[in-house]
Amino acid sequence: MKYAMAEYDVIIVGGGISGLLSALTLSKHGKKVLLLEKDNAVGGNCNSYMVDGFQVDTGPHAITHLREGPLRRLMDEYFTYMPFFVDYGHYYVRTEKGLTKIPSNIKDFVTFDVLPRKDRLMLSQALTKALTQMIFGMLDGEQPVYNYLPKGLSDDTYDFVNAIAYFLSGKSMKDTSVNRVLYGSSFVRDSVSEDIFEDVEMAPGTSYASLITDKLSKYQLKGHLTSFSRLATNKVAYAQAYPRGGLRSLLNAVLYSMPETVQIKTGSKVCSILTEGENAIGVATDTDSYSSNIVVYTGFVKSLPRIVQLPSDYVKKLSTIDQTLSLTIWLGLKEKMKEFDYTGSEVWFRGGAYWAMPISNYDASIAPKGKQLVGFTFVIDEKNDLESEKKKAMELIMKAVPGIEKMIEMTHYQVTIPEKAAVTINGYFAGTRSPVRNLYLAGTDTDSRSMGVTRAAYSVLEMLKAMKEDKIL
Ligand SMILES: Cc1cc2nc3c(=O)[nH]c(=O)nc-3n(C[C@H](O)[C@H](O)[C@H](O)COP(=O)(O)OP(=O)(O)OC[C@H]3O[C@@H](n4cnc5c(N)ncnc54)[C@H](O)[C@@H]3O)c2cc1C
Repeated sequence: MKYAMAEYDVIIVGGGISGLLSALTLSKHGKKVLLLEKDNAVGGNCNSYMVDGFQVDTGPHAITHLREGPLRRLMDEYFTYMPFFVDYGHYYVRTEKGLTKIPSNIKDFVTFDVLPRKDRLMLSQALTKALTQMIFGMLDGEQPVYNYLPKGLSDDTYDFVNAIAYFLSGKSMKDTSVNRVLYGSSFVRDSVSEDIFEDVEMAPGTSYASLITDKLSKYQLKGHLTSFSRLATNKVAYAQAYPRGGLRSLLNAVLYSMPETVQIKTGSKVCSILTEGENAIGVATDTDSYSSNIVVYTGFVKSLPRIVQLPSDYVKKLSTIDQTLSLTIWLGLKEKMKEFDYTGSEVWFRGGAYWAMPISNYDASIAPKGKQLVGFTFVIDEKNDLESEKKKAMELIMKAVPGIEKMIEMTHYQVTIPEKAAVTINGYFAGTRSPVRNLYLAGTDTDSRSMGVTRAAYSVLEMLKAMKEDKIL
């Protein structure tokens, strides 16, 4: 074994968006950084690549919280190059009749005729009740959404609520808490203001708006309330967006902003984190070892026990981290289809949940001239045979968009774990500090706020905060 001992202030394990943002920020704080990525390219789940002339992303992505969220903070403070964002659009459900926007307030929900009228009334009452209980601190938010639902709803309605739960937590409504649906995910938290409650009448003479405005100032609940719109994803304005040029434009903005002092090595899998006493002192790959004062790990925290000695109670906690497996099917279409004449995403079709996005509508250069690229993502069961999951998913697409099979000229499958931890009722999040001194964690299994890239950005901000507290920065 060859030992090329090197001195770094910080070694970052993993070159996904969390690792790259960590490298960018820490180097801009004057640290000498080495980043090691096991794959042959950086980016992890945040990248794009070509398949038969179509530029597919690593899954359909909406970049959220852009107005004042964590990624915005990182971009404003550390980026030299900015990605150009295109307004995201709307969220829809698809029925045989076409697309219907997901309602953006309780009033619209009542007229959301995709679901039976009786169910809509029962659901809006349940929402109103949950919101009122939340305002008065009487809500048991940890109970599963399923338990909170009124009894006797139709299968379609359960199916719809389940789709929303999967969308927000990666798990079913039996594993997703009421809190997560009401405000936990913060998926669109900075994008919807309390004006959505205007003209929602509670009872004759009492308006929600006045009740809420009153309570807001009293209990400073504004942050929570604006995110009540888990079922109200349509007033998103510029808060959610897609990067023009595809997801890799976001990655490139981070890479172009990276100071030259950061060393990035791909094809370098870290096999162990080296320790001395209680301190992390570096890392080793199969061929080399590197010394550093600090190690930041951004791979699966669940896999951390494989590369460093940890206390058994901590290892036990890590084993409870819950994950979801997803299947994305990218379809390159010969021609543009009227069914996909929108920007945004569709999150449900009667009979099944998926998340679909026609990404070439944001930037025509993503598909060859006159053609269209659409991605469909499904949550799949890892216990099932992958081929049968693919077949089931394709059948649902054909059912939702009749005639699509004649238009397909490119099919590309991706099987991924979108978040390193799903936000379930008993799911564990590791936080940024580990039991090993000078070993910090970042990534989507360390912070439960929001999701995806936004959550990755939160995790990096948390890590910076902890390092400041520990007088490292
Ligand atoms: C289908 C799909 C849809 C999604 N939709 C959205 C969305 O709409 N909005 C959104 O914001 N996000 C979305 N996401 C999630 C988002 O892409 C991820 O949350 C984000 O990219 C995770 O970044 P990360 O750096 O934390 O993890 P990763 O991307 O997993 O990066 C970790 C990196 O560490 C490397 N690594 C691990 N272990 C080692 C080791 N021992 N040595 C060296 N390297 C190692 C891995 O190879 C990897 O490159 C979606 C993801 C998928 C798959």
